[in-house]
Formats: sequence, C-alpha cells, structure tokens
Amino acid sequence: MTDTVAAAAAARADAAFEATVDRLGRYLAVPAISCDAAHHDDVRRLAATVRDDLEALGLQEARILELDGALPVVVAQWFEAGDDRPTVVIYGHLDLQPVAGEAWTHPPHQATRVGDRLYARGSADDMGGWVSHLAAFEAWRAETGSVPCNLRLIIEGEEEIGSPNLERYMDAWPEAFDGDVMILTDCENPSTDVPGLTVSLRGLLEVELVCEAISADVHSGLWGGMVPDVSLALVKLIDRLIDDDGRMRVGRVAVEPKRRESAGAVVIDEATIRKGAHLIDGVPPLPTRDRTAGEWMWLQPSVTVIATTLPTPAQKKNALRRKASATLSVRLAPGQGPDEMKAALRDVLLVDPPFGVKVELIDGPWAGAGWLYEPKGPAFAAADRAYVKSWGCPMAHIGVGGSIPFVAMFSDRFADLPLILNGVMDPETTAHGPDESLHLGVFRKAIAANVYLIDELSRVGKAALKAG
Ligand SMILES: [Zn+2]
Repeated sequence: MTDTVAAAAAARADAAFEATVDRLGRYLAVPAISCDAAHHDDVRRLAATVRDDLEALGLQEARILELDGALPVVVAQWFEAGDDRPTVVIYGHLDLQPVAGEAWTHPPHQATRVGDRLYARGSADDMGGWVSHLAAFEAWRAETGSVPCNLRLIIEGEEEIGSPNLERYMDAWPEAFDGDVMILTDCENPSTDVPGLTVSLRGLLEVELVCEAISADVHSGLWGGMVPDVSLALVKLIDRLIDDDGRMRVGRVAVEPKRRESAGAVVIDEATIRKGAHLIDGVPPLPTRDRTAGEWMWLQPSVTVIATTLPTPAQKKNALRRKASATLSVRLAPGQGPDEMKAALRDVLLVDPPFGVKVELIDGPWAGAGWLYEPKGPAFAAADRAYVKSWGCPMAHIGVGGSIPFVAMFSDRFADLPLILNGVMDPETTAHGPDESLHLGVFRKAIAANVYLIDELSRVGKAALKAG
C-alpha cells in the first residue's frame, strides 16, 4: 500500500464524518445499561442492530455470541487481506453505565451536539471508540475495495459490570480472539491535542472497616463521657491512612525513574483538573509536592470512602451507636498486589485501636491487581507513525487511575501480543458521570489514526510483528 492510498482512505473517512456521527447517534439512542436488568433487552436489541450493521458494512461472519447467564458479544471479521498480513483484533464495548440520579443538562440517551462536543451516555465510553474502527473499515473498503489487514471485531455487552463472562467467551470461542496484535479501544487521551497510549492501570481493592463498642445503642446524655463513640473511632482510623495533603500515605511505592518521567511528560495542569473533575471555585487540587499529577493519579495508591454506616440525617437520635463501618475503595499502584495492600492496611488499622474499640477489616467483593505494561516492538512504532500522520504527534504513554478488568484478561491470555490501548475519551469526557461527551475533533483524528494504523501494521507484516 502506498502512502497516497492510505491518505486517500483517510480523506474518505473524513468526508464521511457526518454520516459516522449519525451512525453513532443511532446507537447512543439505545439505553444499553448492563448493570440494570430492566435494560438487558436494550443491550440485546443494540447487539442485534450492530450485528446487522456490521454485515451490511461488508464485514464477514457477523454473529452474536451469547452464553447462558451473560449478555451478548458481537463479533465479525475480515479475512481478505492475505495470509501474510497481520490479523488485528479490535475490542470495544456497547454497554453503558447507568444515568439514574445524575444531573444531566442534556438528554442522556439522545446524542446532542453542542460546539465541538457530542453529549450522550456512551458517546466516548465506548461507542465512539468502536464506531471509529467501523468508520476506518468503511473508508478502506470505499477507497480500495479491501482492507490491508485481516480484522476481528469484538464488541462486548458487559464491560461496565466488570466483564464477568469475558473469559468464558474467550474459552468458548477462542478463534474470535485469535490475532497478531490487539487494539483495545476504551481508554483516554491526555488532551484533545495529544493521543494517549495506556501503559498502566491501577488495581482495585475494596475493604470494610468496622468499629464496635457496645452491644446496643445507648443514651448519649447518660453515657456520653464514659463510653466510646464508634463513629469518632472510625473517623480517627480513616485519618491514619491519610497525610496532611489529603492523600493516602499507606502503601506508597517507589516508581521507576523512566515511568515517573513519562508520566511527568504528560501535561495535566490545574485548569485540566479543575474542569475535568468539576472542582468548585476556591477549592484547589491536592498539591503535587515532589511528584507530578500523573504519578499521583496513575502510579501511586489512593483511597476513597465509598460508603459508611454513619447515621444519616434521617436516622438522627441522641444515642451512642453500637457499630460503625466504612467501605474503603483502594486504588492499588500498578504492580502492587491486593494482599500486599491488605497487609499494609492491617498494620495501620488493627493496632492500638482508638479508645480501645473493637476493629475489624473485612474483605469486600473487589480485589484485583493493576497492570504495568512495556510497549515495545514494531507494532508500537507503527502506531506512532499512524498517530503522527493523524494527530501530528506520537502517542503519549499514560496511565489510567482506574481498573479495567478486561485489560487484565486480555493481557493474561495474550501476553505475547502487542496490546495497543487507545480510545476517544479526553479529560472533559466525564465518563460514568453526567453529561458524558465525545470531542468531535478527537473522534475525527481517532478515525484517521485507525485508517493509518491498519496501513502501518500491514506494512510491518505478520512475520515481523510476531518476531517483534
Ligand atoms: Zn468503557
């Protein structure tokens, strides 16, 4: 393939951009919320629509895979590039986070365009992600009648509930996941000008911290002054985990200088944090001290109190309570194991209890290690060339502060393959929150990047990719 052909395919994709946005808008109108059984029919309905569309676009063997007790996975392939060309596995997900209880200013299930942004739940996480690949496929077909790589497309329906059945799907249909390089498109870009390559994820550990002192609630006027208040004990314990800046001080790790440097090279200034995290006027971000925002958010642990049994206003009464607990969600540094963190938490929380109360630390439903990846070889060099052509710069190596279970599953099984984690989110996307949006400039560049990436990977060839 010559440069001119790829550029012509990219120009086709660009000319079809409005049609692609319309396609995305049709998918966004379906409330495919996987955590809510009332919407499971919507997930299945969307899967059926997407399957039909993939077939209509000319992809081969478009199918819905559906295991018992699971939501469907849509797959399709393209195998006309030739045996010597690489097979690229592309992953995305069509299910959505819920919107209930969130204050949206735009309708969550109707694509609304305002300026550069398209608002709707799933616009960037992750419908825009995999739709960008469909647009690239269409452009290649329109320009050349074929596509220079073989492709396998996997669109999952359960990512937002932690991909509980993805491994079963991998076991049941291994051929659907068989390729030479994987593009997992569900991640973020550090800005609308700089594309991101995700190279680390934090792990996640949930624990419940429980304080007990008395066997029944008692009158605070009678006993206050001689009997411990478990709520205060709980607060004091949580305080042990935090430094004066408001950050978790337990379980901090030494980060390799090279990773510190690449995290530091990504500009995350105060304005980005203010806007992206909805900081209110007068409240500053936490001070960075001797590290960078990227290191704090991607490479060090953090803790959030996500639930407590402290009495709510509706439960107000003048009483000392018998028990208080807090659910702590701990983001683990990439490479840090949940057991290591649990041991560190026990050392701090279970010794010398405040006021002598009984303290317990109970395992929660989540305990997963993070992910630390070393992108090397011709696939990543190819990706950089593609991104220079489409975005004007190579991919910045970034971390994700969250945990994406499917990444661990792919990297466990396909550790030898290059895993390219890209995406269409940017710092203003507010994925999982109200007014989620996709930046249309990012979407446009992501489509072009996919067009060029297929070309660059094809030029590397299957044998060289494998050897890489
Ligand atoms: Zn996602």
